[in-house]
Amino acid sequence: MRLKDFPEDIRPYILPEQGGDLVYRCLGCGAEYGIKELLYTCPDCGDVFLIFDKDIDRLKKIPGELWHRIFDYRKMLKMPSFKGIYLYHEFIGSIINKDSIVWLGEGHTPVVEANPSMQEQVGLKFFFKNDGQNPSASFKDRGMASAFSYINHLIRDGHVSDVLAICASTGDTSAAAALYASYMNTNIKSAVLLPHKKVTPQQLLQPLGSGAFVFEIPGVFDDCMKVVEELSEKYNVALLNSKNAWRILGQESYSYEIAQEFEYDMNNKVVVVPIGNAGNITAVMSGFIKFFEAGIIENLPKIIGVQSEHANPVYLYYKEVDPQKREFIPVKVKPSVAQAAMIGNPVSMPRVINMVDRYNSLAESQMVFFVEVTEQDIMDWELKANRNGHIACTHGGETLAGLIKARQKGIVEENDTAILDSTAHALKFSDFQKMYFENSFPPDYKVTPGSNLINLPVLIHPEGLEKLPAIGNPLGEEDFKKFVNIVSEEIAEILDLKKI
Ligand SMILES: *Cc1c(COP(=O)(O)O)cnc(C)c1O
Ligand SMILES: [Zn+2]
Repeated sequence: MRLKDFPEDIRPYILPEQGGDLVYRCLGCGAEYGIKELLYTCPDCGDVFLIFDKDIDRLKKIPGELWHRIFDYRKMLKMPSFKGIYLYHEFIGSIINKDSIVWLGEGHTPVVEANPSMQEQVGLKFFFKNDGQNPSASFKDRGMASAFSYINHLIRDGHVSDVLAICASTGDTSAAAALYASYMNTNIKSAVLLPHKKVTPQQLLQPLGSGAFVFEIPGVFDDCMKVVEELSEKYNVALLNSKNAWRILGQESYSYEIAQEFEYDMNNKVVVVPIGNAGNITAVMSGFIKFFEAGIIENLPKIIGVQSEHANPVYLYYKEVDPQKREFIPVKVKPSVAQAAMIGNPVSMPRVINMVDRYNSLAESQMVFFVEVTEQDIMDWELKANRNGHIACTHGGETLAGLIKARQKGIVEENDTAILDSTAHALKFSDFQKMYFENSFPPDYKVTPGSNLINLPVLIHPEGLEKLPAIGNPLGEEDFKKFVNIVSEEIAEILDLKKI
């Protein structure tokens, strides 16, 4: 819609004003640093940052009702800068100039209601929010759009030039980083570090296709992360892991979109998120807190963080009910089908601890919960979801298994409505589906395929035919007729088709 066609009272707000007073705030010592340069950890105490807007009160002056109309009308604006996560620009990197914003189609992913038979099995109304429908097929694009727009902002302001963007990854961070870097290739190059053989073939091909330097490192993600941290401390590189607080800021858009999708009514809503490095759950909590504090939503939804038994440090931390006795202990991960979340020492743990406290105290009751699920449940529920019209990857299966666990434990009630984070597209992780169907899981995974969920192709090998069609070698008319006839009969027999 053209600017002049918006209602008069909305027009002044349709294009977000560049503003705010953003700082990096250390979660360890509380020190604040200006955002004129890229900082990752506190120079003083070494703890992680979150980005705070010290002038947030200017946004609270706008009534919640008006915000609803601003965001809903802004959705009609055909301006690439504000089509993605920056629809909520006032809450996401508001100092970034609109011309620095990079939009590759991320954000505003579909929220798809589960079909009646699926809802009946689960005993609850629920939706998948398909973040696998982002450009690199995972939610990581949200954070990258934010981090790269900020770097672009620095480049355009002349603060930096010739950036080498670097990250460690369980597969999806690198795909997203390489994608955005390739779009900005005149100023930015990217290098990604992957744990050797611990990402899927699709995830390995993504950064290669985008032209990134790809390094495979022995070990697991936690080992790659240490190397990248060393590189970012000693050399002039831009770190793109979620240690980079700009990533968190962009991923908050997931919560804003849920709020908008449900007409800003978060009453009886439950948002279920898988946890790996814990950047995503941090962002999801932070996003809802910001909208709540600005009066855009009146309730905070329940948040459920899900981990696999094979990579469960956050779950174990919160398993201790007495906050005084909680102690964070990194775990040694075991092979997990939720491979992008196979992390034993999450970088964002201090952020989680900080956010959970704030969230629960704002809500005035416990609203954040953690559950763990088995590898078997992750696989079974992924496959069941996809047999009911979804495109969930293993992590989507993990959230669904987590919802069911939370329901059993009484954390989720019958009249709640759940929104499950389907963090990546099923296709990225289809090798696990293949292992399931072929019963070829290495024993460490502890997954036994259920015969009712296995599905394999049937090769038709027509008996009594001398010649079969082949590339460049079509059959003659008679042979071809015979071929079509015999093959159809074989298929009809298998499907038990009735003759007409
Ligand atoms: C990165 C990732 C996760 C884990 O998110 P964190 O922010 O690391 O907790 C879950 N699922 C998928 C598909 C991912 O790519
Ligand atoms: Zn500090």
